[in-house]
Amino acid sequence: MAIDPQTTRVDYIKETSLQARHIRLGLLRLDLVHPVISGNKWFKLQENIRFAIDHQYTSVLTFGGAWSNHLVATAAACAQAGLAVTGVVRGFHGEVRSSDTLEQCAALGMHLHFVSREDYNRKEDPAYLATLRTQFNDSFIIPEGGNNELGILGARAIAAYIPEETTLVATAIGTGTTFCGIRQALTQHINMLGLPVMKGGDYLRTELAAHIPEHNNWQLNSNYHWGGFARHKPELLSFMNDFYDRHHIPLDFVYTAKMMQGVLDMIEKKELPEDSHIICIHTGGLQGNSSIKNKLHF
Ligand SMILES: *Cc1c(COP(=O)(O)O)cnc(C)c1O
Repeated sequence: MAIDPQTTRVDYIKETSLQARHIRLGLLRLDLVHPVISGNKWFKLQENIRFAIDHQYTSVLTFGGAWSNHLVATAAACAQAGLAVTGVVRGFHGEVRSSDTLEQCAALGMHLHFVSREDYNRKEDPAYLATLRTQFNDSFIIPEGGNNELGILGARAIAAYIPEETTLVATAIGTGTTFCGIRQALTQHINMLGLPVMKGGDYLRTELAAHIPEHNNWQLNSNYHWGGFARHKPELLSFMNDFYDRHHIPLDFVYTAKMMQGVLDMIEKKELPEDSHIICIHTGGLQGNSSIKNKLHF
């Protein structure tokens, strides 16, 4: 496939509160792997695109909302791989059907197919998928968020970027595909902490456990959702602005800011042990900030 991760690195955060507790805290900058196919989406798409090409598909179809990181990443990955692509977008009558994200998708050649909320909710219904497949050129269908076995397989590759001396890996959780992939491939003695970004994320525990054995080496903390998926509060935006000023690392308000604020809060509350070497995954997604760009100063 024509897409390659260009560069990534671990940036360590310097804070006296961390030094006092002998905690090393680094961010694995997956936001840097590609300018558009950002962060974990690059990894989740990798094996999906490869599969589509290997199985002679000429087009792909996937799902997303108006600000979906997955949608724009898929548009760019398909453009690079020479595949046609349809984005089924959760649209609704009477509401604005445009966003910077959708404009970028269209500019990358993605065909946008707006459907009602009811239809969108059938995104996993085999009968509905069969109809879409027929309607759109026998496309290879990638589920919303790249959440399939191929997505997990692709995400496994992230584990290779985690320094050996790490004791804990933290990541934001949407579908959990990324978390499962990393957990499957990561050395068992390194712990993992997942922070769901939607309300009531505890339901994910059973879903994740279907893909990763319960070895007491992973946990979820669903306290840092800030009101729900893509919801935020002024304090979260202040945190992002402040984090940028101190460390020159931009975070996105849907995923990485909630994860980072959560990890720092857990450190402050002494819920994470002294002498830890923590790696937080910067899963990218910065394009989504354009929906609130007047509130951020980076
Ligand atoms: C999609 C996304 C996630 C969630 O990944 P899952 O594999 O669905 O859990 C996390 N962070 C960012 C920036 C994302 O765009």
